[in-house]
Amino acid sequence: MVSLRLREKLFCRSRGSCYWIKMSRSVNRIVTIGLVALLPACASTRHAAVKDTTKTFKTVVVDAGHGGKDSGAYRRYGPPEKLVTLDVAERLDHKLRESQLKTVMTRSSDVFIPLDERVNIENSQKNAIFVSVHFNDSRRRGVRGFETYYHSSASFDLASRIQEKLMSIPHSANGGVHTANFRVLRNATCPAVLVECGYLSNRNEGNLARDSEYRELLADRIAEAIVEQRYGAGVYHGSTQVAAQPSQPNTSTGSTELAPVGGHR
Ligand SMILES: [Zn+2]
Repeated sequence: MVSLRLREKLFCRSRGSCYWIKMSRSVNRIVTIGLVALLPACASTRHAAVKDTTKTFKTVVVDAGHGGKDSGAYRRYGPPEKLVTLDVAERLDHKLRESQLKTVMTRSSDVFIPLDERVNIENSQKNAIFVSVHFNDSRRRGVRGFETYYHSSASFDLASRIQEKLMSIPHSANGGVHTANFRVLRNATCPAVLVECGYLSNRNEGNLARDSEYRELLADRIAEAIVEQRYGAGVYHGSTQVAAQPSQPNTSTGSTELAPVGGHR
């Protein structure tokens, strides 16, 4: 997450940006001492041998962040992150299959999948890449924008391409491409990226995330980046249903809108 002063990274644990853990300074100090002791153990697992399949891959492992008991980011005026990640992931899965790529989803329903199981799924595929879909959260409501994360150098081009395609969405904000030590990236043996599709904590991006047409647009841009990464520019043919401009957030009660679930927590 973005409020770095209040959040400290646990090197041996993994999370998306939404997995930063809030700690006081004194706790930070204690944890830091503990982490120094743990570093040698981490070092042995930090550098998975990554095969660069970005020009040859036939399979895309599509990872919908969170699920089940893990709701991810949650705001009372919008759906929890786990539902919007699943919806974008399913749309992405569909578009990739239409583009003749094989896909594997780490989850296709609202279930909890431990991070290590996600890593096992991504590493069990031959000649694959891994794309994890998340939405972001910040205590500062004004923070907005797309961010894409990677760990291995083999994943950089894919991360950059996804970020670039997302930035083609009008009025979008660029949070940048960054390295991250998230477990699903760090332990991947294939190129792996994690996409933060905007901030649910931001009123505008949170409202957009509720709109099915906007989620279709997000999936379309990510799919375009993946297909171009594999086959080159101009090959991807997106859905004709995707609008050139993001529509206004859908305030109707149509069936495509994701209603908040679980009530106020
Ligand atoms: Zn997340």
